[in-house]
Amino acid sequence: MSSDPARVRFAPSPTGHLHLGGARTALYNFLYARQTGGKLLLRIEDTDRKRYRAAAAEGLMDSLRWLGIAWDEGPDVGGAFAPYIQSERAARHREHAQQLLNAGKAYHCFCDRNRLQELRRGRQSYDRLCRELAPTAARQRVQSGQAHVIRFRSPKEGSTTVRDLLRGEITVRNAQLDDFVLLKSDGFPVYHLAAMADDHAMGITHVIRGEEWLPSLPKHALIMRAFGWPEPTWCHLSVLKKPGGKGKMSKRDARQLDKAEGHSIFIHKLHERGYLPEAVVNWMALMGWSLDDRREDFTLAELQCAFGLEQLNASPAAVDFSKLDHFQGKRVRQLSATDVAAGIKPYFLREGLKPDEATLLKIVPLIQERIVTFEDAPQWAGFFFQPHVSPEPAHLVAKKLTPAESLAALQQARQTLVTLPTFERDPVEKALRALADELGLKLGQLLTPVRVAVSGQRVSPPLFETLEILGRESALQRMENATKLLKDL
Ligand code: GLU
Repeated sequence: MSSDPARVRFAPSPTGHLHLGGARTALYNFLYARQTGGKLLLRIEDTDRKRYRAAAAEGLMDSLRWLGIAWDEGPDVGGAFAPYIQSERAARHREHAQQLLNAGKAYHCFCDRNRLQELRRGRQSYDRLCRELAPTAARQRVQSGQAHVIRFRSPKEGSTTVRDLLRGEITVRNAQLDDFVLLKSDGFPVYHLAAMADDHAMGITHVIRGEEWLPSLPKHALIMRAFGWPEPTWCHLSVLKKPGGKGKMSKRDARQLDKAEGHSIFIHKLHERGYLPEAVVNWMALMGWSLDDRREDFTLAELQCAFGLEQLNASPAAVDFSKLDHFQGKRVRQLSATDVAAGIKPYFLREGLKPDEATLLKIVPLIQERIVTFEDAPQWAGFFFQPHVSPEPAHLVAKKLTPAESLAALQQARQTLVTLPTFERDPVEKALRALADELGLKLGQLLTPVRVAVSGQRVSPPLFETLEILGRESALQRMENATKLLKDL
C-alpha cells in the first residue's frame, strides 16, 4: 500500500518515565512517518499541571533518542507549527473554546466544586444544570467575575459513529455522553480540547495511540466535527498484557516487575541494565505488529521499509521478556569485540573495578556467547580485575573427592603450571589433561578446584583461556591462597 506522506505525532504527558506502551506508540508513529515519507512530531502535553514534572520531558526525549526514534518537529528542534509544548498554546485553546461558545456548541458552567462533588457522590455525571442558561445572562455572570468552566454541548439524542482503522466502526449512544469540560476555571484547556486543536493546527493526518484512549474517541471526534475540521485517521493500538498473558499491565504491575524480576518496562531502566536499543526496538515492534507470521528479525532501518498500519493487530499483545533476551542475545553475538568491550566496560566500573582495554578485548570472546545484557558481564568476568578472590572453601572440593584429595589435586596442578615453559592456552590444556590422566582423575575433578581458586566462582568462562588471560603470576597466587582455604576445611 503506498500512502501519502503522513503527519503523525507522539504526544506524551510529561508525568513520568517513558514505558513500553508509550515507546511502542512512538515507534509505530515514527515507522509510519518514515514509511510514507512523512513527518513525526513530538508534542509535550503538559496541560495537566498537577501531574506535571519538569524533568520528565527531558527524560522522555532521552529515552526516545536512545531507541533511535527521531522526530522531525518538536520542542527541541522546532518546526513550522511551533510551539510544541502544549501549555504554550493555551491562548489559542481559549480562542477555540470561545469559537465553540459563539457557535452555541459550548456553554459556561458556574456550578461550584461542592455541587459537583455532591453529584459525584450520588454517582451522577454532570446534570447539565447550566446548559440552558441564556447566553446573555451567562456572559453577565462571567463579566462580574464569577468562577466558571466551559463545557461542550454534547448531543443528547441519536448516536455518534467513529471509525477506527483497526476496529472498524464504533458507535455510542449520545445519551451516554456527558457535557465534558473544555476549559477549566483557571483558563487552561483540558487535554481533549488541547489535543484536538493541536492535532488540527499541526495538520495531523493519523492519530496512532494506545487503546486506553478509545473511550475518549467519541468526544474527540465530536470536538473535531463541532469545528468542522476533517478528522484524522484514528488508529488505537492493542493493549499490552502482563507477562504470562493474564490481564492488562497496570502501573502497579510494572513497579512490581521492576523490583521482583530484574525486568523493567521503563526504557531508561532497560538502558541502564545494558540492553541494546536495537534489541528493544525489535522486541517492541512485534508487540502488536507482524510482517508475516515468520520473520522476526528486524533492524530499525528494515522496519521503516516493512512497517504498515494494515499489519497491526488489534488483539492484546503479551509482554514477553524472554523474547527480549532472545533478541538481545542475538544482537550481542553480532557485535564486534570492540563494541562489546565498550558496552561492558561501564558495568565493571560501576562495580568499582578498573578494566584495561587490552584485557577486556581478550575476555570478550569468552563471554560474548554467555551474557544477555552488558550488565551480566561482571558476574562472569569481574574476577579478572579483582586484586584477589575469596572463594567459598567448600566450592573448592571437586565432585566425589574429599577435601584432602581436592587439595592434593590443586597442589599438583599448581606444580604443573609453575614449570610450564609457556603459559598459553594450549600448553596449559595439554599439561592439565596429562596430569588428570596421571592422577586417575576425571578432567572436571581436576579443574574444579583450579576454576574456583582462580575465579572465586563455580561457573566461569572457559578455564584454559581464563588462565592464560589472568597470567601465570596471578593464577598461581590465587591457587596458593586456595590451598590454604582447603587445608582449613
Ligand atoms: N497526552 C496523552 C498521553 O499521554 C496523549 C494521548 C493521545 O495520543 O491523544 O497519552
